[in-house]
Amino acid sequence: MREIPGAWRRTLAGAGLMADDGTTRPTIFAEMSALAAETGAINLGQGFPDEDGPAAVLEAAREAISAGANQYPPGRGLPDLREAISEHQTRFYGLHPDPDTEVLVTAGATEGLAAALLALIDGPDDEVVVFEPYYDSYAACVALAGGRLVTVPLQWPDFQPDLDELRGAVNDRTRVILVNDPHNPTGAVFSAEVRAEVVRLAEEHDAIIVTDEVYEHLAFDGPHVPIATLPGAWERTLTLSSGGKTFSTTGWKIGWATGPAPLVDAVLAVKQFLTYVNGAPFQPATAVGLRLPDEFFRGIADTLRAKRDLLGDGLLRAGFEVSTPAGTYFTVADAAALGAEDADAFCRELPVRAGVVAIPLTAFVTPEHRARYRTLVRFAACKRVDVIEDAASRLSALR
Ligand code: PMP
Ligand code: GLN
Repeated sequence: MREIPGAWRRTLAGAGLMADDGTTRPTIFAEMSALAAETGAINLGQGFPDEDGPAAVLEAAREAISAGANQYPPGRGLPDLREAISEHQTRFYGLHPDPDTEVLVTAGATEGLAAALLALIDGPDDEVVVFEPYYDSYAACVALAGGRLVTVPLQWPDFQPDLDELRGAVNDRTRVILVNDPHNPTGAVFSAEVRAEVVRLAEEHDAIIVTDEVYEHLAFDGPHVPIATLPGAWERTLTLSSGGKTFSTTGWKIGWATGPAPLVDAVLAVKQFLTYVNGAPFQPATAVGLRLPDEFFRGIADTLRAKRDLLGDGLLRAGFEVSTPAGTYFTVADAAALGAEDADAFCRELPVRAGVVAIPLTAFVTPEHRARYRTLVRFAACKRVDVIEDAASRLSALR
């Protein structure tokens, strides 16, 4: 058979996302979850909760299926969910996106991001500034959209960018500054100075801010501050989020994009030819979630903060150096103190050495920047307390 054609092969290889022999590589998350299943190790790799979210949200999905919400929803998303997204942004952030023109339901934040980059990048000279390490789909989507990835390093242990390096990365070719706050994989929450500088630079160079805030309700040290709430930011900011992390429904893939109508329209224009729509019964259920009382949202941050502490203590006792995340599901630990020289090799051995799976930070960086993150490993804390305790006691075998 003829070789299957595909510019995607070169494109993804160029972004360091293909295997060395040119074959497609599963994502690091799929690869590490498979390793956990194969070895019976505890999976602190892929970030998904091992407990169900709020019963009312799950029940609403069941009811929606029974009530016949099983056909295509409207292209922009169920009107009631768009209302709920808007109300949620008013309640928590004082923003008032118009549900009809400034809110779009997407197939997870992943599709929102892909559609946004495909819509906004207009050729190989267009640059997308991202903080590195970055969530894996960022580099893939910038490559598939034909743009150029420009990275700003986040350094152990606080993972705040250096403002001069940020200034050095943004210029008149910058089409998009892509922010993720709270940040995966580092668990950082950006400082007010960083947020303000992103907005200032976007204004100075007429760039668009795309901000991925899927961990908006998992900030541990105070309320989350969406970049769109900063003075002057709204008109040039596209905010992406989803229900997966907040309602422990990562498999439902109900996300949303909010921002000024022209930006939302640009995402819609592409999105309608990617998935068109998705998740009919999960849309009303996610609306129920977004309308849960404040205590629910406080509760999930409190619960995860406690799990972060439990995991962090366990990692310290096992001999890692540990960075304290201010948000997200994740904690980054340095395995150098345990003799590791390469995080990737360390993580591949970890199931055998200790019966635990984690993710090397080197999976989230461009190949030429691996050295900076050589011994750093990401552990997920979004697991049951007994599972974290078991993992911690297994990891103590590493000493
Ligand atoms: N962005 C970040 C930073 C993430 O960690 C994830 C993983 N869940 C996503 C996007 C994907 O979100 P969704 O499942 O809503 O597509
Ligand atoms: N967001 C999850 C993580 O960072 C995984 C999502 C995925 O598997 N693509 O672990």
